[in-house]
Formats: sequence, structure tokens, C-alpha cells
Amino acid sequence: MSFLTDKYHKLKQELDAKGITLVAVSKTKSVAEIQEAYNAGQRDFGENYVQELVEKYEALPKDIRWHFIGHLQSNKVKYIAPFVHLIHGVDSEKLLSEINKQGQKFDRPIPCLLQVHIAAEETKFGLDKAELGAIIDKIAAGNGPVFAEVSGLMGMASFTEDNDLIKKEFRELKQLFDDCKARLSTINYPFPILSMGMSADYGFAIEAGSTMVRIGSLLFGSRIRK
Ligand SMILES: *Cc1c(COP(=O)(O)O)cnc(C)c1O
Repeated sequence: MSFLTDKYHKLKQELDAKGITLVAVSKTKSVAEIQEAYNAGQRDFGENYVQELVEKYEALPKDIRWHFIGHLQSNKVKYIAPFVHLIHGVDSEKLLSEINKQGQKFDRPIPCLLQVHIAAEETKFGLDKAELGAIIDKIAAGNGPVFAEVSGLMGMASFTEDNDLIKKEFRELKQLFDDCKARLSTINYPFPILSMGMSADYGFAIEAGSTMVRIGSLLFGSRIRK
């Protein structure tokens, strides 16, 4: 077992005091380890592979709020649509419309976040500003998806030792978030969630205005991907 209960309580308390949601990233971790975190009081967990998420959903208590934080292929949305709590990585209109379709099929709204590409690196997924703007325009015009409930933004900073770059990227994402939120407030459309910050950089993310952090290795120890 590697779930760090003392560390968890300290972090959870700190985040609760600031009104920030903690998503415990449990990818690669066993059902027993997640159960241990659950017993310590944690309810929000994040996974990045569909099959792994479905297996864990089936094995674990049903009041867990499952977050899908990875890159999601449109043809796999159907497997998580019946139960997923929040899909963080919506990076195309195609994926958004598939989520909408599956939400309609299962007759439940599926909350999701638009993933924005903020990192200097080429490798990370996400919408650019123009693509983000196009989706926000549609919602603001009343033509947004009905069953895919777009509830905010998500982003990842560069994987770097350059703290100034990380801070700059998070500030940029916060600015985009504020802009979207302001546009949508004209139609009273709520846009409450800004998901940014991981084990290595969550302090900077919180400084910049994050409302939700996704933390794995700090709580579960380091990962070895199968
Ligand atoms: C793995 C992962 C995390 C957590 O990373 P840690 O460095 O272990 O905290 C957060 N967000 C995403 C999208 C991830 O894939």
C-alpha cells in the first residue's frame, strides 16, 4: 500500500480552506489503494484510460465521483457516459458532439471541461485559442450542446524546471477562463471550473486561480506505467 494518509489530510485541509476541489489521480493504482484513499474520506478520483476506469468503477463504491482526465477517443465515450462525473480533456468539437450524443442516449447531462493548449511543448493535447473561441461563441449564441455540459477549462503547463514559464502559462489559462466566463455570464451560463495543477506545480496553479487540482504521485507515490 502506498496511499499517504497523513499527507492527504494535510493537503485536503489546505485545499478545502481555499474552496479548491482535489481530484486524486489514481491511474495505475490498485483497487485496494483507491479503497484506502476512499476510507480516508476521498471521493473524487481521476483516471486516464477508459478500460481501467470502467473496471475500477465496477469494483469500487458507487458514490465515488470519477473524473476522466486523459485523452479521450470519440468511439470510447459510450463506455463511461453512464457514470462519469466530469470529462476534463475535451479537445475537439467532434469529441464534444459525441459526448452530447451519448448524454442524450443515456438521458443524463455529462459535465465536461474544454482542454486548452497552454504549454510551449508541442506534445500536449488541447484546443488553441481560435478553436476555444469558436465553441464559446456557439454556446453564447444559444447553440451549444444540451447534454454535454461545458463547465469550464482544463490545461497543463509545460513539463519544465522553469517556474516562471509555468506561472506564465497558468496565468494565461486563468485569463482565458475569465474571458470565457464573462462572455457566458451574459446568457447566465455557469462556467465554474478551472482544472489546473498537478503534484509538481499545483502551488503555482492555485496562485494563478485554479479551482480544481489533479494530484497523483504526491498522494500515491510514484507510478510505474504497465
Ligand atoms: C497523471 C496526470 C496527473 C497527475 O500527475 P501527478 O504528477 O502524479 O500529480 C494530472 N493530470 C493529468 C492530465 C494526468 O495525466
